[in-house]
Amino acid sequence: MVTRSLAAITTGNEKFVIDEVSVDDPKSDEVLVAIKAAGLCHTDYDSMSWKQNLVMGHEGAGIVIKAGKKVKHVKEGDHVILNWAVPCGHCFQCVSGNEHLCENNSFVLAGNRGFGKGHAHRNGTLYKGKPIARSFNIGTLSEYTLVKSAAVVSISKTIPFPSASIVGCGVMTGFGSVINAARVQPSKSVVVLGCGGVGLNVIQGARIAGANPIIGIDTRETSLAMATKMGATHTLLAKTGDNELAHTVDEVKSLTNGRGADYAFECTARPTLGEAPLRLIRHGGMGIQVSGIEQKITFDMQLFEWDKIYLNPLYGKCRPQIDFSKIIDYYEHKKLFLDELVTKTYPLTKLNKAFEDMLSGKNAKGVIVFK
Ligand SMILES: [Zn+2]
Ligand SMILES: [Zn+2]
Repeated sequence: MVTRSLAAITTGNEKFVIDEVSVDDPKSDEVLVAIKAAGLCHTDYDSMSWKQNLVMGHEGAGIVIKAGKKVKHVKEGDHVILNWAVPCGHCFQCVSGNEHLCENNSFVLAGNRGFGKGHAHRNGTLYKGKPIARSFNIGTLSEYTLVKSAAVVSISKTIPFPSASIVGCGVMTGFGSVINAARVQPSKSVVVLGCGGVGLNVIQGARIAGANPIIGIDTRETSLAMATKMGATHTLLAKTGDNELAHTVDEVKSLTNGRGADYAFECTARPTLGEAPLRLIRHGGMGIQVSGIEQKITFDMQLFEWDKIYLNPLYGKCRPQIDFSKIIDYYEHKKLFLDELVTKTYPLTKLNKAFEDMLSGKNAKGVIVFK
C-alpha cells in the first residue's frame, strides 16, 4: 500500500513548496511513522540551498503506523522520537562507540557531500513519480515518513509531541556536547556563547552536570532571560559585532578567579566567533564548537596558549537509545525542561512564518505540528 503525505519539499534553490509525496509500506527493518510534531532549526533553512530535491526536516516525533517484520524495539501505536544519525550497529565507528558517525548510514547529499561515506537509503518516497531523498534520511516535515527502525526511539505516551520533537537535534546536541563530549564535572566553570535553541540546552546540561558558575552570553536580553530559566547562574549582554569580546572576556575572568573558564561552548553559528571560546577559557581549558561552523577561519595560534583543547563534536556524540532515554528521564523528573523551550507551534502551511520567526531570533524553538 502507498500512503499519501503532505510534505515540505525543497528543490535546493532557496525555496520550498508544500506538496504531496507518496510513501511505501515498511520492509523488514523499517517503520512507517505518522509525524505529529517537527522541531525547526537553522539546518532546515540551510537545506534549501543544498541544491537537491529533499523532503525537509530532521527533528520529529510521531506514532508508529506500521513496522516491518524484523522490527523488535517498537510496534504499531508506539510514540517515538526520530533520530537523524541512524546507527547500523556494526561498522568501525558504531562498535567504537561513535554511533553518530556511522559509516554505513550517515546522511549523504548528491555529489557525495555530507557527513560520511554512507549509502543512499531506500526511503520508499516518491514525488511526482520520482524517488526523492529525505533530509538526514528522516525528512520530518511530512505527515508520514518511512525510516530504518534504528531511527526511532520509543517514549511514554504522556509526553507532548512538540516537546518530544525537539529532543532529536537541538536538545541532544547541547546536552550531549556537555555530558558526552566535554564531560563537564561538578563545580567546573562553564561559559555558553549564544543562548538560542542549542545554547539553552548546553546550559541545561551544565546545570545537570553540576557546573558552577554557568555564564550565559548573548546579544539579546530575551535570550538571557531564558538562559537564567534554564540554569545560568550569571548572564552577560554582549554587543553585536564585538567579535573579540573585549569586555566580556574581562567579565568572565572576574567570575572565574581571574583565569578564564574551564569550558566555553560556542553556540552562535557565526564564523566570526569561531575563535571566541579560546579567548574565554583558562590555560588547559576546553573550547567546544557546538554550532556547526564550517567556514574557513583564520586563527591566531597564540589563542591556544597554553594547553588548550578545541573540540568539534557532532550531535553531542548521540547514541540514540541511551541518550534519548536519559534526556526523557531527566524531563520526567523535571530536571530538564522541554515544554518551556517550545516557544510557538505552527501548522505546516505556516512554515514560512516559522522560518521568519526563527531567523529573527523570536523563538527558543519553533515547532511544526500535524493533526
Ligand atoms: Zn555503523
Ligand atoms: Zn538541527
